[in-house]
Amino acid sequence: MSGKDKLIVWLEDVRNTDIPIVGGKGASLGEMINEQLPVPGGFVVTAQAFRKFIDDAGIADRLFKGLEVDVDDQKELAKAEAFAKGLIKDQPMPKEIADAVRSHYEELCRREGGEVYVAARSSATAEDLPEASFAGQQETFLNVKGADELLKAVQNCWASLYGARAIYYRVKQKFPHEMVNIAVVVQKMVDADSAGVMFTRHPTTGDNIEIIEAAWGLGEAVVSGSVSPDNYVVKNNKILQSKVATKEIMIVRDKKTRKTRKIEVPAEKKNAQVLSKDEIIKLAKLGKLVEEHYGKPQDIEWAIQNGETYLLQSRPITTIQKGEAKGGKASGEIILEGLGASPGVASGKVKIIKGMDTLDRVLEGDILVTKMTTPDMVPAMKRSSAIITDEGGLTCHAAIVSRELGTPAVVGTKEATKVLQDEQVVTVDGEMGRVFLGAIKKEAQAVKGEEAAAAPKAVMTKTKPITATEVKVNVSIPEAAERAKQTMADGVGLLRIEHMILGLNTHPDVYIRNGKSNEYVDELVKGIRTVADAFYPRPVWVRTLDAPTDEFRAMKGGENEPYEHNPMLGMRGIRRDLRETQHFKLEMAAFKKLYEMGYDNIGIMLPLVQHPYELRRAKELMVESGIDIEKAEIGIMVEIPASALIIDEFIKEGLDFVSFGTNDLTQYTLAVDRNNELVADLYNELHPAVLKLIEYVIGECNKAGVKTSICGQAGSRPEVAKRLVAMGITSISANIDAVETVREMVARTEHALILEAARKKL
Ligand code: PEP
Ligand code: MG
Repeated sequence: MSGKDKLIVWLEDVRNTDIPIVGGKGASLGEMINEQLPVPGGFVVTAQAFRKFIDDAGIADRLFKGLEVDVDDQKELAKAEAFAKGLIKDQPMPKEIADAVRSHYEELCRREGGEVYVAARSSATAEDLPEASFAGQQETFLNVKGADELLKAVQNCWASLYGARAIYYRVKQKFPHEMVNIAVVVQKMVDADSAGVMFTRHPTTGDNIEIIEAAWGLGEAVVSGSVSPDNYVVKNNKILQSKVATKEIMIVRDKKTRKTRKIEVPAEKKNAQVLSKDEIIKLAKLGKLVEEHYGKPQDIEWAIQNGETYLLQSRPITTIQKGEAKGGKASGEIILEGLGASPGVASGKVKIIKGMDTLDRVLEGDILVTKMTTPDMVPAMKRSSAIITDEGGLTCHAAIVSRELGTPAVVGTKEATKVLQDEQVVTVDGEMGRVFLGAIKKEAQAVKGEEAAAAPKAVMTKTKPITATEVKVNVSIPEAAERAKQTMADGVGLLRIEHMILGLNTHPDVYIRNGKSNEYVDELVKGIRTVADAFYPRPVWVRTLDAPTDEFRAMKGGENEPYEHNPMLGMRGIRRDLRETQHFKLEMAAFKKLYEMGYDNIGIMLPLVQHPYELRRAKELMVESGIDIEKAEIGIMVEIPASALIIDEFIKEGLDFVSFGTNDLTQYTLAVDRNNELVADLYNELHPAVLKLIEYVIGECNKAGVKTSICGQAGSRPEVAKRLVAMGITSISANIDAVETVREMVARTEHALILEAARKKL
């Protein structure tokens, strides 16, 4: 597609590279149409049109200011939603956009041989980011007829960018509202007789099976989790399993009002199988074609109308976990079954939640049982050891959130809230989709004892390769310490403390102002200690505060955070701590306490260092705070090209280790804002310039006996690990789910290097 400022484009003119213009959904539909897959025709009102709308109306400042609320406070969140949506809906649509929408709609009707109903679907341009399982919270408007109605629907889609769920998740995922843009896909409506979703691989284990979920009527019932769908499993065009659910409701078009409404499924259809064998196989085959086209497992929405199968959208599955599922399997008396939505096994006390006012009853380790979870339940979901719902399929809220939290979940049990009793102890097997009576020992426990039972299955079945290059793990929230430990990593290469602080939801300044600095220090000690304990005596490199002003502004008491033109280049990292030394000193007080408690495995890592002066000054402040800098391991992050280029001067200043923060090193080397999807295609951690800087630093450090490591996202990519090992890096720190694959790659690369050296000698 050409022309970045186009307001509307036809789907057939769209390709995957157009995500910044048409969003992930639009781009994916364009790709599918071009593959001759059965996709309903239509066009996209581009993200540029939305920007033009905002600019013409002059509402940007008011809009973003209105979104700066405490999202954990339901009332404030609802207020922000109402304000932002109202603001968008109240503005007149610029004539140029309105005219373009009208003419495209008329042309679509002409192509389809008469006035058609269309669906207007939001297509957020941030949807393909890793955080995106939550970004896709915007709405779809169905059964829209006539240009006037369509214009309203487009504006409603725009407004839905600021739904409470979307605001909440963006803040929690630290994705600035300003960066999110939205396109609207307008497509001929499919009046589905049946519809649902299809995963071309198992969404968590990645097993090579296809899973199809199907219900009567429009697919929204399945996607929103308001119906328990049929579940079919297909492998190599053979149906392995057909679980027929009781489908209580369906979403249909009302014949009189032409609007969608939820109705009860007719009695004879409630327990009937939705798809015939032929339909299942046909869908599975289409699924494979889509997967082949993208080269990645896909999550597809489909619909069938009058026997015609349509693919409505497709996106990559982002939830597949590397290695095998964690937590082992459970066995015993099964009292309930549903869909295994998030793997793992956990026992605990049932807490049946019927209203938000009773959420406090869910204590740490309890099992949250509810009809269907909502975003306001996330704090309680975090406390839960497992989650069970009556409703929902593999794409429902409970399933998505549980997978991200690493919490076992069984969804779509139909009757958990009726069958289970409050305070009853049960065991949940989130892989098999089963609930057992009582606290059942996992099968693995009998074999390997307590420790092994808590460990990932992959760890129990495979031996950990011994590598000369250490393979460590990154941790951001202390709650993840145990999961991180189970990877058997050689230590923690990055413990970010700002997540701990953001979790307190009170700005450090508030503690300082109220004379409660001790409480703040204790919170830091508590969080760091959790991780240091889990790994002792293996090293844990704790990074001092890297607090960007835009992220900290959202906290209680954060209103004094300055507005910066470009926070990425502004007051964050060590430069900020060296100006606001009161913060740095409190962090040092926490380190001192920890050292006094005997945690000699803790290292201190300074972020965003650009001049040796900063390292020197930080060390002076450490000494002033009573830290023995000869004993403590102290290092810097290399994430600015400047520090890479003069690494010898840092070495002269004296340091024990450096760690590559490739997320920042890439953005600063290539001048590509890491959060800006408009230039995301230029963001390349493997750019020769980035690699050259890394290679140079490793060489200089190796000469001087200074350890080198990587803690940026790139370290979780096996192909990057391979290159770094060849360059002679001392350790690699990866995300929890990547440790195993990275470790295997490190081992393989080391072997290859040894073989190569041996061959050269021969
Ligand atoms: C990095 O920049 O690579 C890094 C690990 O730090 P952060 O992502 O927290 O900026
Ligand atoms: Mg960084």
